[in-house]
Amino acid sequence: MRVGVLALQGDFREHAQVLRELGASVDLVRRSEELAPLDGLVIPGGESSVMDKLARTFGLAEPLRAAIRGGLPIYGTCAGLIMLADTVLDGITGQQSLGGLDIAVRRNAFGSQTASFETDLDIPALGKQPVHAVFIRAPVVETVGPRATALATLDDGRCVAVEQGNLLGTSFHPEITGEYRFHRYFLQKVAAAVRR
Ligand code: GLN
Repeated sequence: MRVGVLALQGDFREHAQVLRELGASVDLVRRSEELAPLDGLVIPGGESSVMDKLARTFGLAEPLRAAIRGGLPIYGTCAGLIMLADTVLDGITGQQSLGGLDIAVRRNAFGSQTASFETDLDIPALGKQPVHAVFIRAPVVETVGPRATALATLDDGRCVAVEQGNLLGTSFHPEITGEYRFHRYFLQKVAAAVRR
């Protein structure tokens, strides 16, 4: 399986490392022509407003939207989740997302960098063992539309992981905690899409 990691900005190296450890062949993606051979793509954490600007500047935004429409499996973490959201709340002026997930996300929903935190989440789709989740100036999924499914919620009920067809998104960063189950789950989606 050939999986790309969008490498415009953010923690793309950490995702590449996890995916390689799970046996995927990994391409760092910075140009639109690098999308064509991919079976799946990860959009990393970072800063969504910057990622958006770079994606548009380098002519990647429209090809990425086309890939989403075409059913390419894509997993977005944190800023990557924001990029995949149909609606972004508290974006900077003019901020655009790629869309695809029928959700509204609120950027920086927990406050500033110093309000970053870690917690354990029960995610039945990934098994019994709780998922240790790191939230860094994280977004929250404020509205889950009818086409998307919530996979994980905080104790207060706020949604922090979603899935919709071939798209997967988390507010937190499994790539930095040694938690491989989300990437494995994603690679299963990639494998299923390759078989189809
Ligand atoms: N606050 C960032 C944003 O709006 C996301 C932070 C992250 O990816 N860790 O894009």
